[in-house]
Amino acid sequence: MSKRIIFLALSIIITCASCVVGIGRARKSIDVQVAFGKPNVVHVLIAGSGPAGLSAAIYAARFGWYVVVIRGPQPGGLLTKTSEVENWPGIKSILGMNLISEMENHARSLGVQFVQDTIETVDFSGWPLTVTTQNGVTLNALSVIIATGSSPLMLGVPGESKYWGFGETSCAKCDAPFYKGEDVVVIGGGDSAVEEAIQLAPYAKRITILVRKDRMRASQIMQDRLSQYPSISALYNHEVTEILGDGNQVTGVTVFNNKTRQTSTMNVAGVFLAIGHKPNTGAFASAVKLDANGCIKMVEGRSQKTSVPGVFAAGDIEDSVYRQAVVAAGSGVKAAIDADAFLVGAGITLQVKNQLKSHLYLGEILEHSVYRVTSIKEFDELVGSGKLVVADFYTDDCPQCKELEPIFGSVSKECGSQATFVKVNAQDLLDLSDRLHIYNVPCVMIFNKGQLVARYARVGGKDELKDAVERCLK
Ligand code: NDP
Repeated sequence: MSKRIIFLALSIIITCASCVVGIGRARKSIDVQVAFGKPNVVHVLIAGSGPAGLSAAIYAARFGWYVVVIRGPQPGGLLTKTSEVENWPGIKSILGMNLISEMENHARSLGVQFVQDTIETVDFSGWPLTVTTQNGVTLNALSVIIATGSSPLMLGVPGESKYWGFGETSCAKCDAPFYKGEDVVVIGGGDSAVEEAIQLAPYAKRITILVRKDRMRASQIMQDRLSQYPSISALYNHEVTEILGDGNQVTGVTVFNNKTRQTSTMNVAGVFLAIGHKPNTGAFASAVKLDANGCIKMVEGRSQKTSVPGVFAAGDIEDSVYRQAVVAAGSGVKAAIDADAFLVGAGITLQVKNQLKSHLYLGEILEHSVYRVTSIKEFDELVGSGKLVVADFYTDDCPQCKELEPIFGSVSKECGSQATFVKVNAQDLLDLSDRLHIYNVPCVMIFNKGQLVARYARVGGKDELKDAVERCLK
């Protein structure tokens, strides 16, 4: 075949693959040819690595798309902050962190790539959709699924960061059963606070709702429900000024009565925060339409479509009501199905996919793909699970640690099904470093059945680390 005929054939394919995809007035012209001129192409780019993002990733990868997940500032999302998850259908009880890690492994096994980075800016005015990360990488996405979740608003009082997850939480649905027979407080005066209190009623002995004003903001119908629960009462004009604890667990709160101007202490085992959530719209806030709650607006019926064709949203970022991991996962699945339909509709055929292969974004991925442990409790639980755990202790300023990153990432990808690879910031978790006598970084430690079995102050290369892991597996 002459070069001219090949060129003509390619032009026909490209012309057929050019089309218009859109909803209502927000029509976007999709010209597949444009993608051929771009580097760093991704078929489905997913922002966020909680249950919504990971479920979307699993589905999109199974549809045959090349999927990249930008994990964001809190890899794994809110679920990693909860302890036991006891409402994931089919699993009676699992640590939130382990559930996320299972989902991530599932996605990886299907070829999903993970990038430990955060999206800083987006440009959805044209197509491909461009996304630039904090590390300065610009990706050209053929479709985007936003699953960046929400963050509970925090009080910002002393003791809060120390006891978050150790008696202070924002999910009674998840944690209420752990407070059987205990006195607890719920902070807030909206519908969420009422709901949290009602969730706690079958378990806790006494539930006090601390409302900062002289009235609740909650709807009357919700407030009326409270009268059915004798164990629930409300204290108005009360503001929490400190979370108290014994070093391990919450033991009480300091409250300020803004009417009498008096301060007192309440002894409680649990503090349930319900002062609202904020959707993590970040870089997307000005690129897609938002609803009255500040969440990303879904524009078409029961789909996960946003106001921008080719951009979908799933999970807490678009749902201010249900906020459950299972619901988020379900919406992630819907978003992946919508993204698949969009890509097929845009003319991304198998042939086009093959032509785009050399344009795909592959670099700088492996070194960032390892899960980061952020608390000693999390680390101890992981090691205590009995699995083979390979931990890379590092600090942000250590050049040798940076050198080890791609090696560690690469071995974690190859051996990830046999062992759990994690990174631990030794400076952030100084007590753990002290306990393990880590005085230099990088330091790679391998734990098996809860015991330290190997320790390396220096790792020569990928093969050396892989050999070390494989020796421990025997
Ligand atoms: P809201 O924003 O409605 O209420 C937040 C509450 O927290 C307010 O009472 C507010 O007090 C209080 N608050 C805020 N900051 C502080 C602080 N620093 N210290 C003490 N108190 C504070 O949030 P919700 O999460 O309750 O509700 C969000 C949305 O979701 C609403 O639209 C709600 O209707 C909806 N929702 C509906 C449910 C249902 O229908 N079943 C269940 C849950 C939520 P103040 O009033 O003084 O500002």
